[in-house]
Amino acid sequence: MRPLAVFLDRDGVVNELVPDPVTGLAESPLHTEDVRLVGGVGESLGILRSAGYRLACVTNQPAAAKGIVPVDQLLSIQARVQELLSDVGVRFDTVRMCLHHPDGVVSDLGVSCCCRKPKPGMLLSAATELGVDLSGSWMIGDTDADATAGNAAGCRTVLVETPGSHHKRDGSDLSGVRALDLTSAVSIIVRARENG
Ligand SMILES: [Mg+2]
Ligand SMILES: [Zn+2]
Repeated sequence: MRPLAVFLDRDGVVNELVPDPVTGLAESPLHTEDVRLVGGVGESLGILRSAGYRLACVTNQPAAAKGIVPVDQLLSIQARVQELLSDVGVRFDTVRMCLHHPDGVVSDLGVSCCCRKPKPGMLLSAATELGVDLSGSWMIGDTDADATAGNAAGCRTVLVETPGSHHKRDGSDLSGVRALDLTSAVSIIVRARENG
């Protein structure tokens, strides 16, 4: 039997969103010192790992394409997330980061790509690398784009109702399951597996 995976959105699921100083809206962290893991992430990812799931991080990071920060800064932030995860004893088996944005102002990155969620490109690519069976796999995210990408890849989805990103969940995707946080999302996945 092929292994199963849980695909994890990053911002608002694995690490906390950060209030934008100007708009007040909760956004992806843009400075390494702003990276904070959500509560219980070490335990949550450890439970998935123990249940046999491969863990893949799939994250849209368009800030460089928009000219807000350099690509290197986004890579440093991703490295910081992984460092903090390592501190709590867990790690991703693979990571996919989409640096594109269709309205981006930076050449090469300002393109319409196949990887930016809601498209499933990052999930499909990670699934190929890990050799996983998508139909038994799950996507955990906090926006409709995450759920849509998970469904398009052929996975089941759990939408985490992170308060700061409520405006990115307009209910257009109702095919998935909802959870209050990562801890409850993981419980749902483990319970579904136990119930066959
Ligand atoms: Mg998110
Ligand atoms: Zn992309």
